[in-house]
Amino acid sequence: MAASLRLCAAASGLRYWSRRQRPAAASLAAVCSRSMASKTPVGFIGLGNMGNPMAKNLMKHGYPLIIYDVFPDVCKEFQDAGEQVVSSPADVAEKADRIIAMLPTSINAIEAYSGANGILKKVKKGSLLIDSSTIDPAVSKELAKEVEKMGAVFMDAPVSGGVGAARSGNLTFMVGGAEDEFAAAQELLGCMGSNVVYCGAVGTGQAAKICNNMLLAISMIGTAEAMNLGIRLGLDPKLLAKILNMSSGRCWSSDTYNPVPGVMDGVPSANNYQGGFGATLMAKDLGLAQDSATSTKSPILLGSQAHQIYRMMCAKGYSKKDFSSVFQFLREEETF
Ligand code: NAD
Repeated sequence: MAASLRLCAAASGLRYWSRRQRPAAASLAAVCSRSMASKTPVGFIGLGNMGNPMAKNLMKHGYPLIIYDVFPDVCKEFQDAGEQVVSSPADVAEKADRIIAMLPTSINAIEAYSGANGILKKVKKGSLLIDSSTIDPAVSKELAKEVEKMGAVFMDAPVSGGVGAARSGNLTFMVGGAEDEFAAAQELLGCMGSNVVYCGAVGTGQAAKICNNMLLAISMIGTAEAMNLGIRLGLDPKLLAKILNMSSGRCWSSDTYNPVPGVMDGVPSANNYQGGFGATLMAKDLGLAQDSATSTKSPILLGSQAHQIYRMMCAKGYSKKDFSSVFQFLREEETF
């Protein structure tokens, strides 16, 4: 399956490498004079739910890190492990010529790159700046222009897979930027993900990510509605999930991340919706989909509805819960 995907991808011009399929040495050498394939320090900005395990996987692959987060407490464990913690993104840029950022929103990314003590204040010529945050593709394009003016390279590389995949190094990266820099990005991203997919020019990685998350939100709400209806009709939730998962309603939200407590182990619904992918972040991603749909005049009827549902959930106290808590939200709404 993976092999055929790679073949199809090659035929369609899409570049896709699994972890085992490293770029050829010749293409690596051609990329640039940056410290390729050597274990020189890598900058990492944003050590939250995702950034923490991603940075740890770079450490496991032998890369020394230069760390920064606005919330210093999250840097402590890296400092204790011998990594270098600095006090601004500019300081990261002074010490590292490859920097990965994993920040919550467009505003945070703009601050980290273009702010008073941002990366651009001290970025070195030829540096590779990889932004794995999920942000507005238009912002990625603007940041890329600013970075280019400084003689450095910007790529957007948002991820799919969540905290579990970040821990196990099995994220999927969707990469946008100059194609001849893809190999350089792949060297680092391959330490944190099992799939690294080249999508096209800057911003296309974000475009792929936004489409994926809009579909995920819609399918999660649909799964929660179907499960709740079935339970109200007297079905055992585990049995219903089993039937859905052997039928045409099956999807990731039903078979891997079921939103109903007691149906699956090891998912946020089994742990009072703690951890995982917060409803706030899902509302943010749906807002990005909404903006992109407006600018491209694309109809997203269900995407818009999903956006309203997640915004309402955040306003009603679900902001810190995993996005699968939409099941609990629907249950509370049943009373009126
Ligand atoms: P998070 O809020 O847990 O972590 C973000 C970190 O960035 C925090 O430690 C915060 O202090 C830091 N930060 C914020 N602004 C900063 C700045 N200007 N400079 C330096 N540090 C700053 O978020 P997360 O869950 O790790 O998500 C990060 C990104 O990844 C988001 O864009 C999210 O949409 C995306 N994402 C998350 C998941 C998931 O399951 N959590 C999955 C896929 C993609």
